[in-house]
Amino acid sequence: MKKFFVLLTCFFIGNSCFSFEIVYPKSTKALVNADSTFFIGNSGPDSGLKINGNSVKMNKSGAFAYVVNLKPGDNIFDVEDKNGKQTYVVTRKISNCGCTISSPKFVKYNVVKNAVVSKDNSPMRETPIDGGINRLSHFQKDIPLVVDGENGDFYRVILNDNSKAWLAKRDVTIVDDNSFSTPATLSYIEHKEDKDFDYYIFATNKKVPYVIKEGNPFVVTLYNIEYAEDMTHTFEIPLNHKLYGYSGSFEKDKFVLKIRKAPRDIKNVKVTIDAGHGGSEYGAISCHNIKEKDINLAISKYLAQELRSLGIHVVMTRDSDQDVGLQERVNIANKNDATILISIHGNALPDGADPNSFRGTSVYYYYPQAKFLAENVLSSLNKIAGTQNDKVRQGSLALVRNTNALSILVEVGYLINPDDSDLLKSSEFQKKCAKAIAKAIRDSL
Ligand SMILES: [Zn+2]
Repeated sequence: MKKFFVLLTCFFIGNSCFSFEIVYPKSTKALVNADSTFFIGNSGPDSGLKINGNSVKMNKSGAFAYVVNLKPGDNIFDVEDKNGKQTYVVTRKISNCGCTISSPKFVKYNVVKNAVVSKDNSPMRETPIDGGINRLSHFQKDIPLVVDGENGDFYRVILNDNSKAWLAKRDVTIVDDNSFSTPATLSYIEHKEDKDFDYYIFATNKKVPYVIKEGNPFVVTLYNIEYAEDMTHTFEIPLNHKLYGYSGSFEKDKFVLKIRKAPRDIKNVKVTIDAGHGGSEYGAISCHNIKEKDINLAISKYLAQELRSLGIHVVMTRDSDQDVGLQERVNIANKNDATILISIHGNALPDGADPNSFRGTSVYYYYPQAKFLAENVLSSLNKIAGTQNDKVRQGSLALVRNTNALSILVEVGYLINPDDSDLLKSSEFQKKCAKAIAKAIRDSL
């Protein structure tokens, strides 16, 4: 029995056996671009683990995160316990550039250019910055545009005399055809409905740029419309319910806005659960050397059980250890007409941070419609699973930039924080998280 115990707690590195396991840095030679890094791992609580002669503080399960400062160049760290020593060389990259990167400048064209969106799902942004909370619309292919200038990798698009926006050059083709810029006519607007959706059909005779603004009223603005003031048609839709997802796109030349009605019954609700990462994408690694993809999948499967027991229809983007692309995950949700898309993750930190000072759950959303769900899920996880409050945040992540469903991403806890790492490996905790999320979803409908 004793022999068996020794075998279980022996980690082989090369030919030596230690009672500690270093999970990060990932190898004994590491390159870091920060003035500090950390050793993450686990050990027997009485192993007497030291790094460069300093005792490493660990929690009761033996998990630790030990921060070390780095000088430029090579930094040597001897990690040792009573069984032996392992040497790590962490090289801090030295920047010898000394230069400042100049930001691109706006260049206005003498003559405007006609252009067209060249691929589906191309974001139009408020600012010429590839990231952050600045998206106005996602355009499908073939929407005509007029550009009046450029800034770095972006074209500036004229919406009307008072409004401009930006599209990445990679999503746009300049065309030598001024029929693109001729205005569209808007002959009528029609409202239709079925049991799940309201549809607003804008009968244009060609595709035009548009912006959808959440709120009550819900506002749709179509640009380049003939006879409209400032060539702009603004349509307001008063809502008598919360938003539960919507989409706007051209079907042939008509613009169709689809707004989901409030769910009549929990049994009509479809939830897509996305277990983050999978297959060759491990995600983060915990102090206990458990891969994030496996923790995400375990919580997701418990959550599917919980939701199904409430009568909610559940689809999972993966239910095994497999690679699934980010857009593919969103497409699965939308193909299944999900009301809610919830992505389950565990958190980590870059070099330079101290994993001991970060704990708890954060929940991300991008579109305001999903903020209340993010808040409900966070407070339920804090209450029922006992996680710390690491806030609701608006973030530009692929899984939450989907308007068709209320789309949120839950970072349940920090895998590289020793105490969160303890929690995340426990199936009891994983089940509590699933219960907490399921309750929040039920209470939000
Ligand atoms: Zn992740």
